[in-house]
Amino acid sequence: MAAEELLQEIKRIVREETPFASAISDIDFEGPRVVFYCKNLGLLMENGEVIKEFARKIRKRIILRPDPKILTEPKKAEKDIRRLVPTEAGITDIIFSQNVGEVTIEAQKPGIAIGKGGSLLREIMREISWTPRVVRAPPIKSEIVRNIRLSIIQGSTKRRDILRKIGRRIHREPKSKGDWIRFTALGGAREVGRSSFLLQTPESRVMIDCGVNVASEDRAFPHLEVPEIRLPELDAVILTHAHLDHCGFVPYLFKYGFEGPVYCTPATRDLAVLLQLDYVGIAEREDRPLPYNKRDITTFLRHCIPLDYSDVTDIAPDVRITFHNAGHILGSAIAHIHIGEGIYNLVYTGDLKFDSTRLLSPAVCTFPRLETLIMDSTYGGAEDIQPFRANAEKEFIRIVTETTKRGGKVIVPAFAVGRAQEVMVLLEDYKRKGLLDGTPVYLDGMIWEATAIHTAYPEYLSPELRERIFRADENPFISDLFERVKGPDQRAQVIEGDPAIIISTAGMMAGGPVLEYFKTLAPDPRNTLVFVGYQCEGSLGRRIQKGWREVPLRNDKGRVAEVKVNMEIQTVEGFSGHSDRAQLLNYVRRASPKPQRVICVHGDENNCISLASALHKLFKVETKAPRSLETIRLH
Ligand SMILES: [Zn+2]
Repeated sequence: MAAEELLQEIKRIVREETPFASAISDIDFEGPRVVFYCKNLGLLMENGEVIKEFARKIRKRIILRPDPKILTEPKKAEKDIRRLVPTEAGITDIIFSQNVGEVTIEAQKPGIAIGKGGSLLREIMREISWTPRVVRAPPIKSEIVRNIRLSIIQGSTKRRDILRKIGRRIHREPKSKGDWIRFTALGGAREVGRSSFLLQTPESRVMIDCGVNVASEDRAFPHLEVPEIRLPELDAVILTHAHLDHCGFVPYLFKYGFEGPVYCTPATRDLAVLLQLDYVGIAEREDRPLPYNKRDITTFLRHCIPLDYSDVTDIAPDVRITFHNAGHILGSAIAHIHIGEGIYNLVYTGDLKFDSTRLLSPAVCTFPRLETLIMDSTYGGAEDIQPFRANAEKEFIRIVTETTKRGGKVIVPAFAVGRAQEVMVLLEDYKRKGLLDGTPVYLDGMIWEATAIHTAYPEYLSPELRERIFRADENPFISDLFERVKGPDQRAQVIEGDPAIIISTAGMMAGGPVLEYFKTLAPDPRNTLVFVGYQCEGSLGRRIQKGWREVPLRNDKGRVAEVKVNMEIQTVEGFSGHSDRAQLLNYVRRASPKPQRVICVHGDENNCISLASALHKLFKVETKAPRSLETIRLH
């Protein structure tokens, strides 16, 4: 049934078969969801159960939005909200978005503002007619987080039109009959970086991830030049997580004709915008050509449809997706993709951690159905066994303590998102237990903002950490152990000053403030550089790791000068947000149901091949390690 007919049909059923027809002034699509515009909210709320039943019947999520005519005037509405919501909720901001009739309430304790089972939300809605949306006030203030939220709210007129259009496209009449499915690697196959894949059926084209390789010049971007990529015809982009090698090229798509939705978790959306802004910011400062600009990032934000874990969502006439925890970084998702009416099911793991970390629970491995598993192979090599985390932590603390005792400083290059917070939580834990002295920990680059986003989405963190954050005085991220480096002057002070631990971007030393620290601190043998994350082949980090003792770097005057590396160089394995070989094998062993085929991507050539061959031998499944530009017919 075509979109318009489906809408007419929904309207007819509402009119003829429900008791609340008179409360509704219009019905439309809002992306994959159906929105009821209502003129009598009271009547609709009395029929909550009927609406739920109705949603189940049409297999759509239903959103209630007030007809603009019934909205209480914002000043009065704000007063009412403050009267209804208990002060303990700690409201920090109330923002009205007239066009969609939505009011965003930012609160320190959102649970209190929502009420038991949403009871307070319903009461607010009944009183003022605006749809209340409660978001958590991040305990760490961040301009960028605030701007992301504001730009979503302010862009809401355009957004409504965008979502209507997307809704019509999702619910279009299927044109094609046929049941083939193909999967093309556009990047990130037998390599790490620029992950991007295309899933094609006779009816739909869906892109999965669209990243950049920040450490490479000739292999920086995915192969969007292939004939099957016609950006205006792309149905959707699925974004598994916010690292740039998965999301860094998404704004580019909008610059060149893509107008569809990007599906990701809310935490991924915020983190992705943060890292994309950082990415274009660095390129701008270093006078490198920009693949896209800030405006394209805003366009991406406007087309973003956030989905929580377990939300089942139609994204094309024959494609339905569900996200599950991937255990890799905040908001990271495994995408379960259901094609056709039960024809085929595939799972794309994105980056995967099948073990508990200090931040997150292990990746989900149980799915309703599964034929093909496409998986992370970063540490798929036979040698890639990581030490136990507890040992890695002890080793890290030993290096830190020895360095600071001899009067040195520790540089920890880290991705802004993931490893930095993992190390922060570790340091805070040791400090709190009295196992680490009070040596200050400086955070430079985007780490502060990324951490602020972590505090805004505690529901995505591990149950233990979540518990501690909900009791605000035990939030490890706001410990006074951590200090933010606000600019070049303070950076110079840190470099000049007493022993310190410096966590700074970029994680593979491809740019960013970490280079400033490195340039000055490298010649002094008292200092230590500790790698805690993956260093991509060709990156500066990898070169130093391999033992380069003279590193050419651009100085303040723009000239290349050799930096002498006398500092201690250490690598601590075991902090990875990726599964090691044993965990990867274990993931396939535990995957339920057992897949018929496994495709190994996101790893160096040898690792992808080695993992594919081991999985084939162990589990008697068909395995493949495609190269970029290869297509596999799945069905
Ligand atoms: Zn990642």
